[in-house]
Amino acid sequence: MRKVYVLRLGHRPKRDKRVTTHVALVARAFNANGFVLEGDDSHVLAAVRGVLERWGGMGFAIESTRDGKTYVREWKRAGGIVAHLTMYGINIANAPRIPQRKPLLVVVGAEKVDPWFYHNADYNIAIGNQPHSEVAALAIFLDRLGNGKELGKRFPDARIRIIPQKAGKRVVRAN
Ligand code: SAM
Repeated sequence: MRKVYVLRLGHRPKRDKRVTTHVALVARAFNANGFVLEGDDSHVLAAVRGVLERWGGMGFAIESTRDGKTYVREWKRAGGIVAHLTMYGINIANAPRIPQRKPLLVVVGAEKVDPWFYHNADYNIAIGNQPHSEVAALAIFLDRLGNGKELGKRFPDARIRIIPQKAGKRVVRAN
């Protein structure tokens, strides 16, 4: 499986804890293999690690970086490609196909994204050209990337697993 990481830019610890945590959880659940936070927020990273411990995915990388631009530059220097999700980009319905083998960094913003990212990403992709949410944009992008197969993803190291029910909740716990 190729390397797919999600870089979250512009996290504001006072306002964005929940949304940033959801960005990381979507990355894990929708088959990316790493999450990178620009800036610092130990609470968010701890919350994501807690999910990995209970629901599996200990191989999922969690990183932080002081500077998203440096992270993007290094990703590209190592031969990876960068897709920035923005409502100003090319609608995903018309976007070029992303090469399948190279490591892929998916970039999402918070409030305002520095124009540098628009000019240095290999792809600026819009999930429709209307403003909505980084969580929604990331989920749809990863779902298209995985052709929907990621929805059947299972985590062999999970301590808790859901047994799907028509009604009610059923979970099994590993010993
Ligand atoms: N006005 C901001 C900007 O500079 O693009 C967008 C703020 S939006 C609340 C936060 C993030 O959600 C964006 O950086 C982008 O990653 C994502 N986003 C929101 N709407 C999107 C869309 N239609 N397509 C792709 N990404 C979107």
